[in-house]
Amino acid sequence: MLSAKCLLCQTPGGTILWQNEHLRVIDAGDALYPGFTRVIWTAHVVEMTDLSAAEQTELLRVVLLVEQVQRAELKPDKVNLAAFGNVVPHLHWHVIPRWQDDPHFPQPVWAALPHADLKAKAVQEARRARVQQQLNAYHQALVVQLDSR
Ligand SMILES: [Zn+2]
Repeated sequence: MLSAKCLLCQTPGGTILWQNEHLRVIDAGDALYPGFTRVIWTAHVVEMTDLSAAEQTELLRVVLLVEQVQRAELKPDKVNLAAFGNVVPHLHWHVIPRWQDDPHFPQPVWAALPHADLKAKAVQEARRARVQQQLNAYHQALVVQLDSR
């Protein structure tokens, strides 16, 4: 079931990298955080416990696979997994590669942007450029791993 009022029922929510009949994996296209990926359940459900046990397992396995491919391809210092749905109450997980020199580290990416001096901003920009260059390989590996699951 889809909801006429729900953003994630009415739009993909990003660039679709892979999908099956239950869920989709999207590139969030985040300007500050290249590699930011979301796993979105297709049907309009709100909480993990709205899913059957088999569906919960399927969703979590895909979230963990995205984490695994991010680690292998992007080599982040940390991967953040998060599911809130406070703003868009449609079940989705954020999978965010993080580096110690990224703009918010060690805060969550949703925190107020801390002040950064010019040197720190240059380091952040260089990091983003490096990750951008790895995105195609990351996305291709994701599709290969999801297809062979
Ligand atoms: Zn929805």
